[in-house]
Amino acid sequence: MKILIAADMEGVTGVTTWEQVTPGHAEYDRFRRLMTQDVNAAVRGACDGGADEIIVADGHWHGSNILVEELDQRARLNSGSPSPFSMMQGIDESVDGVFFVGYHARSGSANAILDHTWSSRTVTNIWLNELLTGEYGLNAALAGHFGVPVILASGDQTACGQMSDQLGEIETAVVKKASGRFAAECLAPPLTQELIYEAAMRAVERLSEGDGPDPFILDTPVRVMVEFSTSDMADRAAMLPFTRREDRCITFTAQEMETAYNAFRSMVTMASG
Ligand SMILES: [Zn+2]
Repeated sequence: MKILIAADMEGVTGVTTWEQVTPGHAEYDRFRRLMTQDVNAAVRGACDGGADEIIVADGHWHGSNILVEELDQRARLNSGSPSPFSMMQGIDESVDGVFFVGYHARSGSANAILDHTWSSRTVTNIWLNELLTGEYGLNAALAGHFGVPVILASGDQTACGQMSDQLGEIETAVVKKASGRFAAECLAPPLTQELIYEAAMRAVERLSEGDGPDPFILDTPVRVMVEFSTSDMADRAAMLPFTRREDRCITFTAQEMETAYNAFRSMVTMASG
């Protein structure tokens, strides 16, 4: 049983501000340790649930947040950026299930810590086949392209709710209750790590019993619409061939999700200038 743990930082235990998840800020070192601990709780749960191979993808910022010297040695760490699959580096047909640890709600959500979609500066919204979603939807659809289900999510209550709504009967660990973009009632790390551990163990046990959620597989071809924050960002994204533009929205169609994922990332990189 092989598990890919796709880790982000905004949904980590205790995080409520950008400073806490931004390298160079005084607070950041505390929260990268907490991110590592949330991930380690997921590794322990996965192993006790029956997983025997674990890959961790460090998906926040430039992908070098997790403290490798404190990582549970049963996991291997995909660190650094850019990598071929970014937040999902390590995904392929050999993976049995994906965990989303430290995930956040999509851009524009109420009561959601640091809600955004891929790039808080650049992207306002994204639709996949007309479904308004967040980066969790993009990443889950890429896993679905390889036939792999998302089986666990951790983050605040809004993030976990959105992922349950779109991805099916996944296990969730709600580590904080958001009351705004920068405010939440937070649980202490020993409690959140226990929640993540239990959810991870259940998720892997359910998978091995054949009781896991279905992969999130989009109909093909995949139609992607991205709403950018400003019109100059759309100007730059529209340079990509085979796109159609309407004001700040760029639409394109890809034959399958792997191409859609990489075209989206290319557009965001171009748009960011
Ligand atoms: Zn992030």
